[in-house]
Amino acid sequence: MLEQAEALTTSDHARSLQLLARLNLEAARLTQDQRWHLRYLDAWEAMYESDYPKSGAMFEDIIRHAGNPVWVDRASAMLLWQLVLTRHYPEAFELANRLAARLPQATDAKARRAILLNLSQSMAVAGQIDLAVKYAQMALAMASSGKESCYAAASLVVALSSGHRLMLDSPELQQAIRACAVAKLPVFSTDLQLTVVRLHLQAGQQRKALALLDRMAPAIEADGYTPNKLQALVLRAQALAAIGDAAAARKASLAVVAMQSTGDWPRDAYEVLYHVEKKQGHAAAALDDYEKFAALDKAHLDDANVRAMAYETVQQHVLVQKLETEKLDQQNAALRMQQKLDAKAAETNRLYLALLLMALVFAGLWMFRIKRSQLRFKKLSHLDGLTTVFNRQHFMGEVERTLRLLEKRAEMACLVFIDLDHFKRINDTHGHAMGDEVLRQVVVAGKQQLRPADLFGRLGGEEFGILLVGCSHEQGMAIADRIRRAVEATTVECEGNVITVSTSVGLACTGVCGYDLRRLCREADAALYRAKRGGRNRVVADTGSGDFAEA
Ligand code: GH3
Ligand code: MG
Ligand code: MG
Repeated sequence: MLEQAEALTTSDHARSLQLLARLNLEAARLTQDQRWHLRYLDAWEAMYESDYPKSGAMFEDIIRHAGNPVWVDRASAMLLWQLVLTRHYPEAFELANRLAARLPQATDAKARRAILLNLSQSMAVAGQIDLAVKYAQMALAMASSGKESCYAAASLVVALSSGHRLMLDSPELQQAIRACAVAKLPVFSTDLQLTVVRLHLQAGQQRKALALLDRMAPAIEADGYTPNKLQALVLRAQALAAIGDAAAARKASLAVVAMQSTGDWPRDAYEVLYHVEKKQGHAAAALDDYEKFAALDKAHLDDANVRAMAYETVQQHVLVQKLETEKLDQQNAALRMQQKLDAKAAETNRLYLALLLMALVFAGLWMFRIKRSQLRFKKLSHLDGLTTVFNRQHFMGEVERTLRLLEKRAEMACLVFIDLDHFKRINDTHGHAMGDEVLRQVVVAGKQQLRPADLFGRLGGEEFGILLVGCSHEQGMAIADRIRRAVEATTVECEGNVITVSTSVGLACTGVCGYDLRRLCREADAALYRAKRGGRNRVVADTGSGDFAEA
């Protein structure tokens, strides 16, 4: 029904109105999009009835809220023509610019055609004939039905006629007349016939013009389309005046005036009246008509000026806007470039910082490793390679240092010398490697008897030294004997044989010998010698004054 109502708007207006009324009653049953379609048709109808405030509001509503570009474009195209009709030229030409820019995206056939046709007519009004012709030709090229061909061809005729480029034998005029006849669109056919009448008049063929007008009269009456009625009356008046039928010319002119229309018709009617009265010598009436004609003609010329001015102004605005946009684009581009440069600089700074940090970390790590290996080497240089207890040099140094400390605190300590018994035999019997293993195991066994504060060192070969810190003579003797027993209990297996070893121990304590290292060593050595001589596998302590105690 919507499609039908739309199809009949120009060919059967009354039927179209009935359909619209029914559709409005059943609007609740329509989809959202169908409702916008109906609103568009209602708006079109209001415009057809010249109710411009109503149609304008409805078109604006569609443009703002429909969402669907088809209705937005079609409503915009109609609004453009309405703005021209109501002489809102700046708004009209601004909208025309927007619609021209919209053309590449307007792919819906009906919407695109509506834009092209209304652009063509608007450009004709603006005096931009080339543009008007171009848009009409574009519409004509895409016409896919008789009706569409009629609309486009009629627009082309209007464009050419506005530019005074139309003649009776112009092919565009004949094409339009044929297209609108085939499409059975009487209003358009009549309008084109009236154009033919006007061209006859311009060519001085008044009789032909009048004959054509007589033939058209019934159709014009039947259409009931006021602009065509007015145009026919004006042309008739002009033709009658030209052939000297003053009375009939006056009658037709007065009929035009009586219809109180806007547009150029009253002006043309007063012009005819002026000539008729003047010819008949009615000076007062002629003057009166002339004044009315002059006033309307001035308004017409002013309007034409306003149109041209409005068009130019809008073009200037578009140009300025474009320039400003370009300037803005340039500024934006400069800003973006600056931002990019800033970002690059920040990135470079970050890179330098990262490199610096990395270099610092590497340097730190390197120094740490060097320090660590230095410490490791230093520690290794203090130890005996085979048994990992202190070597002789470091042991003696540490003992000396500890003795100084203990002397200050008046604490006691015992120095113990150990020499394995008949160790040479182990080497001779089982080999040097096994001897090494025995040495290692002896150290392990001895260590287990010591406290963390005690010092343990290898003095050379199979001889060891121990400083028992904080020990009295008796405590020293007990620990030394525990060491001796631990060594005695140590076994090393070798090819099915079990190797055991014993040790002789000499002990010298600060309580007896004082804190002098050399004396302590001498006394411990002497005690050890006594232990060997006494039969080995025993502990002998120096008791001071050359006596020895034996555990
Ligand atoms: P004693 O002390 O009971 O009188 O007899 P001994 O056989 O232990 O006496 P001596 O001091 O003459 O021999 C020590 C031997 O220790 C000499 C050497 O072959 C051996 N020796 C010294 N250092 C090492 C070493 O690092 N490894 C091995 N396997 N043997 C060693
Ligand atoms: Mg020895
Ligand atoms: Mg020995």
